[in-house]
Amino acid sequence: MHTQISKSLVFATLVALAPHLSAQKPAAPQGVKSQAAVAMQATAAKPEDTEVWEPVPKVVTPGATCTAPPSDAIVLFDGKNLDEWVSVRDKSPAKWTVADGVLTVNKAEGNIETKKTFKNYQLHIEWKIPENITGTGQARGNSGVFLASTGTGDDGYELQVLDAYNNKTYVNGQAGSIYKQAIPLANPARKPGEWQTYDVVWTEPTFNADSSLKTPAYVTVFFNGVLVQNHFELKGETRYIGKPFYKMYSSAPIKLQAHGDRSEPISFRNIWVRELD
Ligand code: MG
Repeated sequence: MHTQISKSLVFATLVALAPHLSAQKPAAPQGVKSQAAVAMQATAAKPEDTEVWEPVPKVVTPGATCTAPPSDAIVLFDGKNLDEWVSVRDKSPAKWTVADGVLTVNKAEGNIETKKTFKNYQLHIEWKIPENITGTGQARGNSGVFLASTGTGDDGYELQVLDAYNNKTYVNGQAGSIYKQAIPLANPARKPGEWQTYDVVWTEPTFNADSSLKTPAYVTVFFNGVLVQNHFELKGETRYIGKPFYKMYSSAPIKLQAHGDRSEPISFRNIWVRELD
């Protein structure tokens, strides 16, 4: 009943406003009906209107645990050998120590980096400060994961590795920091002698043809499952001295640091990466 009245009103209004739609053109009432139907249809949204069916995400078989590599991961260290790594110094085979499924820093050999290069990725890596660690501050189990190695030495973007259980240092240089750029949001460090995890999402910086910065790098880090970097926008490469700045690159190795301090060398295990589009 109500609908009929409404339609009559609409019709009457339209006839009044547009005399040319009157009796001369008997099709007019049909046209008015159909316009009203369209209006009603538009307001009656359905759940299906907002369903998206493509593209279908690829199937990835997860690891047996959430720290084991999923089916599409590139395994960088599985406890057996350093086939995926080279010395940063001369690109010769990496010579850090592999024993009992664990990779231990050889400080005399310097930094090592992956043979493969990466753009955007998800990284899992585990590390352990030795139980007998000595030293203080930055000289107590210092190492680092360079999320992109852009040159020799410590060039690149360092996620700090350091004993942070009971070890005072500058907070933008403690474990979980983006070295001298981002203080970690929390300190979830475990004791020396216990294995710890970093899970990282790295978005590389992009550059214009003239090498100026187009988009900055971003990083998200979970340290032992606790969020310590939340889509942090980097200001450039991490630097020991001076302000950060960007240097053009498009794809880079991941690098592990052999720090020059005298404390006992730290260890790594279970390193894998998933490339992202
Ligand atoms: Mg370091």
